[in-house]
Amino acid sequence: SAKKSGRNRFAWFDRSMERELEARNELENGLRSAIPRQEIVPYFEQQIDLATMRLQGFEVLARWEHPTRGLISPEEFIPVAEETGMIAELSMSIMRQAFASARDWDSSISLAVNISPWQLRDAWLAQKIIKLLTETRFPAERLEVEITESALFDNMALAQSIIGSLKNQGIRLALDDFGTGYSSLAHLRALPFDRIKIDRSFIVSMSENPDSAAIVTAITKLGESLNLPVTAEGIEDEAVAARLLAMGCSKGQGWHFGKPLSMTGARRLLAEKRLLTAAPNPDQPPVR
Ligand code: C2E
Ligand code: MG
Ligand code: MG
Ligand code: MG
Repeated sequence: SAKKSGRNRFAWFDRSMERELEARNELENGLRSAIPRQEIVPYFEQQIDLATMRLQGFEVLARWEHPTRGLISPEEFIPVAEETGMIAELSMSIMRQAFASARDWDSSISLAVNISPWQLRDAWLAQKIIKLLTETRFPAERLEVEITESALFDNMALAQSIIGSLKNQGIRLALDDFGTGYSSLAHLRALPFDRIKIDRSFIVSMSENPDSAAIVTAITKLGESLNLPVTAEGIEDEAVAARLLAMGCSKGQGWHFGKPLSMTGARRLLAEKRLLTAAPNPDQPPVR
């Protein structure tokens, strides 16, 4: 009967919801212990000067080296970290590891870190980042902070003050994933950005989709008019890199230049390019 199948359906939903909830709880509990165990580690994606093909630096991307599941993507655990407030601790751990490892990298190599919207509600965020830089002796001038446009909604006055403190130290600011989600040109004036990053969805589709290509052209022109250099993310082949350079896009990253590297992988690459300085400072134990 209808009543019976209705009840069955209800029960089926119940079980699937329960499984979902269990998985989510498992992820949350796992994450809670993974952070102090430093299972959440920084990976490094090359950022390339498209005109000279020189390595300029790396974007720091979080990865969970799970003991049984292997590498877990940030798309899976960053939202959970945000909802539970663990993002602050996670972010500090990632930055500490990244800054510490980059200490003996060539002074031409910069780092870009991602900051969540949630973190821009912490009035002490700037002080915490500056303290980390001091502790790890990583120069503020070599750090760029990437924020997404959705981050700009909540408490604009607080966000502006945090960003102001960071910029006073010489830290640069990039607008990440431009062209998606909560895009508004007004955001470009709300905060003192130093760079625009075009969202990878436009870059990966620009060869086949003329609309994507037109949007990429428009964003690079916008950057030019506002005097903001533009980075393209998601460059997967040579032809796209060449086309972006011709459009006036100065910097690029993506699988064409290489997948994100582990700390060891990044060091190996830098050694090959002779971009490691003589020796790590012996009076500083490695901060892992
Ligand atoms: P995002 O900052 O826009 O990072 C770029 C993403 O594009 C990375 O995904 C990167 O692996 C991926 N990507 C790079 N090149 C290519 C390419 O050629 N093709 C394709 N298809 N994809 C490419 P990932 O590492 O999975 O990170 C996803 C998002 O997670 C990031 O987007 C960022 O918003 C967030 N995230 C990562 N690490 C952190 C972190 O430490 N803190 C915070 N708050 N967010 C983070
Ligand atoms: Mg980013
Ligand atoms: Mg991005
Ligand atoms: Mg993104």
